[in-house]
Amino acid sequence: MKFVTYKYKGAEHAGVLTADESAVIPAAELGLKAESMLELIDKLGGKLPAVSDNTKAIALADVKIEAPIPEPRQDVICLGLNYRDHVEEATRADAVFDVQRGDAVYFSKRLQRAVAPGDKIDGHFDICDSLDYEVELGVIIGRDAKNVKAADAGKYIFGYTIINDVSARNLQTRHKQWYFGKSLDDFTPMGPCILSADTVGAMPELNIRCYVNGEKRQDSNTRMMIFDIPYIIEELSAGMTLKAGTVIATGTPSGVALGMDPSVQKYLVSGDVVRCEIDEIGVLENTIA
Ligand code: MG
Repeated sequence: MKFVTYKYKGAEHAGVLTADESAVIPAAELGLKAESMLELIDKLGGKLPAVSDNTKAIALADVKIEAPIPEPRQDVICLGLNYRDHVEEATRADAVFDVQRGDAVYFSKRLQRAVAPGDKIDGHFDICDSLDYEVELGVIIGRDAKNVKAADAGKYIFGYTIINDVSARNLQTRHKQWYFGKSLDDFTPMGPCILSADTVGAMPELNIRCYVNGEKRQDSNTRMMIFDIPYIIEELSAGMTLKAGTVIATGTPSGVALGMDPSVQKYLVSGDVVRCEIDEIGVLENTIA
């Protein structure tokens, strides 16, 4: 099942795509009084809604798809250096990244509003000279998680989305902590939907790719994560409550501009089209303003 946030006649709503993905069924049609995805996640409490064949739906052509959680309640939790091949390229590029640390790297990413599929990304070129892309699998927590064991983690996952962890490399490295360089307005494109976790389980094995202007830059599979999703949920929830609606970006595979030889590093410029894809979930494409 695929959940979407969409704009229809000027107002934002949450709903579910029809099986053929040609239309969206408003949450109200499913008997759920929820005007936003966060409310919908709260209402569902870890369960999936029942969808009947004759539920009223709105043609996809008549709505604008927004990021599935346009304004999360808290910062996005991010994994750094969570694909082995990306660790290697990042270490080559900058000695600040320490490949030998052996524990998961967590940081957070502020967002004012997640950029919707098709919308533009402000490159902040007045302060950023090295704008980079990072396609990532985003995990959405479905109910409050505290002290959850890895074996039970699946019960707490609402679903998965695509996140582009857009990064200003000069700011990311200059300030030691990555927070600022990851948190500029527009640096969290998200979408196009949330694929419910029942479809692919707690350890999804999905092909993940990123293209810039049609050129394939990243190409991997989510099974290549160093720290898998149940591990992450167990480790974090042992010390902090992961509230329903929490978004976790699970790290990016190799192929980012940072990892290229400095003589050919292809950082993003105005007009570039970044296309992030994860099988089963869909496509998240944005243009740099
Ligand atoms: Mg990242």
